[in-house]
Amino acid sequence: MTHHPAGMVDLKGIHKAYGNLEVLKGIDLSVARGKILSIIGPSGSGKSTLLRSINMLETVNAGEIWLDGVRVNAPLKGRAFEAHINKVRQEMGMVFQQFNLFPHLTVMQNITIGPIKLKGLGKREAEDRARALLAKVGLSEKADVYPARLSGGQKQRVAIARALAMQPKVMLFDEATSALDPELVDEVNMVMKQLAEEHMTMLIVTHEMRFAADVSDRVLFMDGGVIVEEGPPDQVFTAPIQERTRNFLRKYLGG
Ligand code: ADP
Ligand code: MG
Repeated sequence: MTHHPAGMVDLKGIHKAYGNLEVLKGIDLSVARGKILSIIGPSGSGKSTLLRSINMLETVNAGEIWLDGVRVNAPLKGRAFEAHINKVRQEMGMVFQQFNLFPHLTVMQNITIGPIKLKGLGKREAEDRARALLAKVGLSEKADVYPARLSGGQKQRVAIARALAMQPKVMLFDEATSALDPELVDEVNMVMKQLAEEHMTMLIVTHEMRFAADVSDRVLFMDGGVIVEEGPPDQVFTAPIQERTRNFLRKYLGG
């Protein structure tokens, strides 16, 4: 019997190895609907692998992944599995560090292609939705340009709009601002903060401690493939319990 968990995203006993390298060593977490979880930790601690596992870009070796009470890594095979994965993936928006817009499509086409091809939306409806999203991310005037003409911050805002166009249940951000020039970071963070205020469920991998403290309901510190510590930002940032968390934060906050 499987018990259906209550969160929007629930992970139970997630293990992932690349060959002999164990990267995730039993991860349990739950993010309630509308809540923001930030994931911090040193390079190589498994943060990207964790996010990629949630939407099945990586196949885990053990454990359960749940999205809104639906088992993501369902024990299905072949075509049934493919169909299932394609469906649940549409409910998760992902924004990576590297801008992954289609270079040969305009901003408008980048945003409408998913809803048209995967969700069967009509062109006009998809474009209306895209225009509303472009307004939301402050890029209404860029609908007809190609990604090469955008700054890094503008590209990430388009990437967010594109993900939102699929009306996902959760947004996953993997260091969405770490490839940006410093002066462009805020414009992307502001969009993420706005989503937080609208109660989009989000998992955010970030190295920006101040942003994480500002936007998150909970913060999770990972090291060596395990969750070392998890709690409200006030606690994790100002009164961390674990020595490993303190050491990490000392380096990051320059204390
Ligand atoms: P983080 O995002 O926290 O920096 P990653 O999840 O990218 O960490 O990587 C965790 C560990 O897994 C690292 O040791 C990394 O080298 C290794 N790793 C990541 N992806 C692969 C892969 N495709 N094949 C082999 N090892 C990998
Ligand atoms: Mg990473």
